[in-house]
Amino acid sequence: MSAGRATVQVPCIWHRDLLAELMQQAVDQRLPHALVLSGPAGIGKQRLARAFLEALLCQQPQGGLACGDCQSCHLVAAGSHPDMALLVPNEEKKSKVIKVDQVRDLVDFFSKTAQYGGRRVALLWPAESMNRNAQNALLKTLEEPGSGAFLLLLCDQPSRLLPTVRSRCQQRQLGVPDQPTAQAWLAEQTGDESQARALLAAAGGAPLKALQLEQVEWFAQRDTLLGQFVAVLEGRTPVSIAAQTLLKHEPLPLLEALHGWLAAALRGQQADDKLAPVMNRLRQRLSDRRLLQLAAEVQRARQLLQSSANPNPALLMERLLLLAVGVDAMAAAF
Ligand SMILES: [Zn+2]
Repeated sequence: MSAGRATVQVPCIWHRDLLAELMQQAVDQRLPHALVLSGPAGIGKQRLARAFLEALLCQQPQGGLACGDCQSCHLVAAGSHPDMALLVPNEEKKSKVIKVDQVRDLVDFFSKTAQYGGRRVALLWPAESMNRNAQNALLKTLEEPGSGAFLLLLCDQPSRLLPTVRSRCQQRQLGVPDQPTAQAWLAEQTGDESQARALLAAAGGAPLKALQLEQVEWFAQRDTLLGQFVAVLEGRTPVSIAAQTLLKHEPLPLLEALHGWLAAALRGQQADDKLAPVMNRLRQRLSDRRLLQLAAEVQRARQLLQSSANPNPALLMERLLLLAVGVDAMAAAF
């Protein structure tokens, strides 16, 4: 056993009250056996979940957080706590799904009693990456979880969980933090107020996603990229050429930012000085109705890219651009 203090997960500042509330539920023995925490990507759900489960297993939590000193905390930090299970898609096998075999192992895990006499906890993330078989395999555990069992299902898209799964869990939906809190946090991370505002707008208000965007190589040239999109609307660039230019970059972060900008345009928000001229051109071209429609399509394309459907990014991008110029009939043919 290491003599030092184990690293303890701290939730994002905007989740502190919620964590305190969940811990109080646990103390009062009002915690459900299964909880679905859902909300947009990039708001810190994983940090919250991790902090909560660590505190639940900790033998002497302090101030609602794990102590970092007890045996449980050291085992959790080493990834070897026998009463904690983590179900995620197998990255080594480049899987995007939580497989039914993983869920069967989890059912087995919950059929045994806790080795440290307390709770047995599991984190499933992203829970919606379980296919139908995997979700069905989980039902037995959700119905008869055994004493001390607690399952935490994290998801961005709770609608992809089966109704039978959802109905057996308590559900809490989280939103993006309020703008001033998110802005203050991000400005502290980036050391730059206006950069933080621009990142947050592109990330649709999700602070951790905004922080990831800062690392993306094209962010400094975002006006040129959004300009490509607008040039298509203005009939100055053919769809195929614009799609090629846009696809020189990783499509997912690009689509996420595009969604953030369309949403900002809809709200009439001007959070990014660098984008102001091109956003004005965008608004001149697209009505609110069209902006809304397009934002929904971008969202759908994003979800497809993250799913196990393996769509062709070039086709997705061309479809979006065609929709933007209003060629719905052609786009529908894809
Ligand atoms: Zn502890």
